[in-house]
Amino acid sequence: MEKPHEYPSPLRLLVIITLSIFATETVLMLIIRLLVVSETAEVFIDASLLTVLLFPLFYYLFYVPFRQAITDLQRSESALRASEKRLTTIMKTVGDGIIAIGPDSGIRFVNKELCDIFGYPEEELTGREVQMLMPEKYRALHSNGMERYLSSGQSNVMGHWVELEGLRKGGASFPIEINIRETILEDNEDKFFTAAVRDITHSKKLEEERESLIAELNQTNTELKDFVYVVSHDLKTPLRGIHNYSDFLREDLEGKLEEEQKKYLDGLSRAVCQAEEFINDLLDLSRVSRLEMVFKKINIGAFLKQVVESMNLPPDVKVIMKNDWPDMPAEPTLLRQIFLNLISNAVKFNRSPAKLLELGWNAKGDGFYELFVHDNGIGIEPRFFEKILKPFQRLHTAKEFEGTGIGLGIVVKAASRLNGSIRIESKPGEGSTFFVALPKEQKGEIK
Ligand code: ADP
Repeated sequence: MEKPHEYPSPLRLLVIITLSIFATETVLMLIIRLLVVSETAEVFIDASLLTVLLFPLFYYLFYVPFRQAITDLQRSESALRASEKRLTTIMKTVGDGIIAIGPDSGIRFVNKELCDIFGYPEEELTGREVQMLMPEKYRALHSNGMERYLSSGQSNVMGHWVELEGLRKGGASFPIEINIRETILEDNEDKFFTAAVRDITHSKKLEEERESLIAELNQTNTELKDFVYVVSHDLKTPLRGIHNYSDFLREDLEGKLEEEQKKYLDGLSRAVCQAEEFINDLLDLSRVSRLEMVFKKINIGAFLKQVVESMNLPPDVKVIMKNDWPDMPAEPTLLRQIFLNLISNAVKFNRSPAKLLELGWNAKGDGFYELFVHDNGIGIEPRFFEKILKPFQRLHTAKEFEGTGIGLGIVVKAASRLNGSIRIESKPGEGSTFFVALPKEQKGEIK
């Protein structure tokens, strides 16, 4: 904006003008007295000359500064009007409701959005008490809060978004979000409070719907887990029965069976064994989901050594392990499930004459340890990485490699319950590495 013009001091102007008039008048009067005889002519000449002489003085000393002052005034007034118009437009069109109240709770300003939110026209709000926009139960709280703030400067609601209730014209209450700030105008120390107000009826409704959906989903999930557990568990008994009866049949008919009949009985036993294996894996998966978590501080190296020993791996398998391993909190049953599955897969999907497994770990920068199982087995095409991590997904027939397709599903579930994750690095024919990222720290009690 243009810098305002500087004006000479009025007192100085007055002194200069008075002295100028005095001096000019004296000189002129003396000259006229010497030259002119008639008194009337003298007065006329005197007045005319004085007017001509004083005109430039008046022009520069009065007219120019006066005109400048008027122009400046007009300019700043129109700038002020433009800025006010801009501000009012912003206030009116801003997405939030805006309300300003005085320390007496009287409403001084509302924007259109606020009027729309509460359903009042502007003139029904301005000048009235803000309590009219609150349900009854909040009115005393507001008055006490305002009193406390004015006397002690303490407030629970100032300066941040808080959820409250508003009262619409017609008496319906609804959820609002409000952010109140104190404003003091520099020039007249006029104090007032401005608040941005949002109607959160819609988002509250969405949130409630989301929460009830989550609750419903959790309920269904629990029911499903229970169902899988119960069905698998109950199926075990009849399957065991079929298994036993087919064994009895084979024993009783020993020597009397034709080759073809023997094949049928073998097929029956195989099918039952597969079903039993599947149910056991399904039960393991279900247990991993249902397990009550008890975190313990575990030295991973010692723990993995025990897991490997308990597996009684065939003699053509060599396991290499790092010497020093970190201690970390984990649920032992889940950790065991993870490595039992990864190690047995590393052995199973391996056609190398000398099967080599490497167990190791890396510290990741983001608060995780990455434990890994590397093998020199058949490898996996990267496009199948995502698929095989899902339960019941296999890349081979039971004839090629036996299995149920649940092992990696258990690994993923267990890692996720330990707040970790799984990733794979592999190429067909070049072995595979399964990485398990687990947090170095866990929330809650560690035994
Ligand atoms: P299963 O072992 O019963 O087949 P998994 O869920 O453990 O089920 O594995 C799913 C599939 O992932 C396997 O069928 C196999 O194709 C592939 N897979 C898992 N581990 C390895 C591995 N170490 N090397 C190569 N392929 C693997």
